[in-house]
Amino acid sequence: MRYLSTRDPRPSPSTLSFTEAFLAGLAEDGGLYVPDQLPALSPTALRDYVRLPYAELAARVVSLFAGETFSTDKLRQLTVAAYSRFNRAAVVPLVQLDERLWLLELFHGPTLAFKDLALQLVGPMFDALLARRHEHITVVGATSGDTGCAALEACRDREAIDIFMLFPHNRVSEIQRRQMTTVDSSNAHAIAIEGTFDDCQDLVKALFADIKLRRALNLSAVNSINWARIAAQTVYYFAAGVALGAPTRPISFSVPTGNFGNAYAGHVARCMGLPIDRLVIGTNRNDILARYFATGRMAIAPVEPSFTPSMDIQVPSNFERLLFELKGCSGAAAGDQIRLFRQTGSMPEDDQAWRMARRLFSAHKVDDTQTMDTIGKTYARSGALIDPHTAVAVAAAQTEMSVCNTSAPMIALACAHPAKFPDVVERATGLRPVLPGALSDILERRERLIVLPNDLGAVTRFIRAHARRSENS
Ligand SMILES: *Cc1c(COP(=O)(O)O)cnc(C)c1O
Repeated sequence: MRYLSTRDPRPSPSTLSFTEAFLAGLAEDGGLYVPDQLPALSPTALRDYVRLPYAELAARVVSLFAGETFSTDKLRQLTVAAYSRFNRAAVVPLVQLDERLWLLELFHGPTLAFKDLALQLVGPMFDALLARRHEHITVVGATSGDTGCAALEACRDREAIDIFMLFPHNRVSEIQRRQMTTVDSSNAHAIAIEGTFDDCQDLVKALFADIKLRRALNLSAVNSINWARIAAQTVYYFAAGVALGAPTRPISFSVPTGNFGNAYAGHVARCMGLPIDRLVIGTNRNDILARYFATGRMAIAPVEPSFTPSMDIQVPSNFERLLFELKGCSGAAAGDQIRLFRQTGSMPEDDQAWRMARRLFSAHKVDDTQTMDTIGKTYARSGALIDPHTAVAVAAAQTEMSVCNTSAPMIALACAHPAKFPDVVERATGLRPVLPGALSDILERRERLIVLPNDLGAVTRFIRAHARRSENS
């Protein structure tokens, strides 16, 4: 399998191995890497997935993408280590809410959010590959909350990696901030930027565009733009799908969406052969995706804070991968659209692409009132405490089930532990969720908070000063 950039304009684009695409993260032309073709799983192969331990399933699925770089045995060793850090034997337990609706709990990892599913594996994959190559990398990423602590946790104390995570100052929850600023490791840096998440993403893109810096420090990305994360995120779609009857019975999923990485991974699982009926995108008031699916117009609006900070995003970067596909896998067409979008804040309408997109996804906006309401009602009806992001998925799932006639079981992805957002949950239910043991003292731990202006020069200087030098620079 080869990987190509979503912005390569040439009729026969140059392609990279998994190793190269994995280490680079983002392409030098600013595009995202996608495989030249997706592996196809037959119904028989999917049936074999039933009853596999999660780590075994992950090793098999990820090896379809990374097989040239890691043997299945090596991957198995890494997935067993990664998923043994989760505090549920099932890793991603399914919880039934009512006769048609399930929750897939993706928050039993070290930082209590679904990002752990990918990053606990991708961090060690990086480290193993770099050690083999005697190299050192500098990971730079932007986070609206959960990616940051999950990435810092996945990369901390690793010899071959320095990590810098940018997050919007005062726009993440206290627990999210503390989970980043209390990682006590000299190779892990959390930086608060005086700006929005989109500003942080722009800074990261600008750092990558600085070819000198990029080469000197061996810059790399562990955020949702790395294909390895998408690959690792397809695994729980397979696990949950086959547990509820796929491939015999189609399954629907509802995904609380920010950067579109998680929902896109569902799309990839479906393209690989998992029979997904409805793939539902839940957005909060920052509803660029819901507006796109409703109207065909992709237009930026200012980011507004909400109860679901991990979804306070107006430029969902992984959408570029879908756009590439909608444009007939033309890097020239996708690149043009994205550049126009970045320059003008809106994308030229394309009726054909939009119709294709609407066949693949449904999208529903869920505002803060509805989010609160859903937390309260879910608790009253089924006794489950859900976090606001999960509530967006549940509400979007319920909307979808009420407007479309489908008998497929619906799985809402539960992406954060309710104790990460205790105030909203308490307001909605009267109950204050408690943090699991390992994090119970987080409010007392000492913070190391670095605040920088939304300024490329300042951020570059900080990173240059704190990155350990790359061995091959
Ligand atoms: C990251 C995150 C999301 C958004 O996921 P994307 O892959 O960026 O769409 C939603 N909910 C929670 C709790 C998250 O951490």
